[in-house]
Amino acid sequence: MDNPSPKNKSRSGKRTGTVARRPRNPYSKDEIREIFRRFSVQRPEPKGELEHVNPFTLVVAVALSAQATDVGVNRATRALFEVADTPEKMLALGEDRVRDYIKTIGLYRNKAKNVIALSQKLLDDFGGEVPKTREELTTLPGVGRKTANVVMSMAFGIPTLAVDTHVLRLGNRMRLAPGKTPDEVEAAFLRIIPEDYLFHAHHWLILHGRYCCKARKPECERCVVADLCKSGEKTTDIPATLAEMPAQEFGV
Ligand code: SF4
Repeated sequence: MDNPSPKNKSRSGKRTGTVARRPRNPYSKDEIREIFRRFSVQRPEPKGELEHVNPFTLVVAVALSAQATDVGVNRATRALFEVADTPEKMLALGEDRVRDYIKTIGLYRNKAKNVIALSQKLLDDFGGEVPKTREELTTLPGVGRKTANVVMSMAFGIPTLAVDTHVLRLGNRMRLAPGKTPDEVEAAFLRIIPEDYLFHAHHWLILHGRYCCKARKPECERCVVADLCKSGEKTTDIPATLAEMPAQEFGV
């Protein structure tokens, strides 16, 4: 009896073309390295804009930030974290009062529920400490892969690439890391970002997206990588002068 043909191969052993090929990245390795080098000159030590005082408050702040702005979350959490900066204190405060503190944030009812549930879970399963692995973090109510990546990077210094709306847009618009879903874009970026730039890449991309390569209309004349960018949407090939950004666009 004939051996069955291996999957995706014809009887002659050649590929039949049923495997989806990943499109070639249009950037050379040197170009990618140069893009991140310039981002590093603009923002040598970028930071997230969500205020927090310890890993626990960071988890809460990131979980609250879904479909909300960092500024809006900070406004609400400043008072909340003054009275509750540990899982114990959050539980003592209770869901109704947490809800009052965060009611200016979208989806606050559900988020208040999650904050209480994740505080309980931290006490029950992790001795009140925020765990460091993605697998453990994503067991917490309201914590998905993106939140886990942000917490791992910002609280524990573990290089990850959380994909938010800006990172997703830049991956596709610049054709650096195309993908339909955040997971696809994350995987594509992780394949190309030079290791020594990975730690800050998340913030560089977010801040570049927030302040320059904006959603509605990219401001290419202010862009330091305009000569390298291969976006069909770019409006100039002349890069802006490379210099450290002023504090208000630095991400502090
Ligand atoms: S050149 Fe324009 S489209 Fe390209 S990264 Fe810069 S701002 Fe975005």
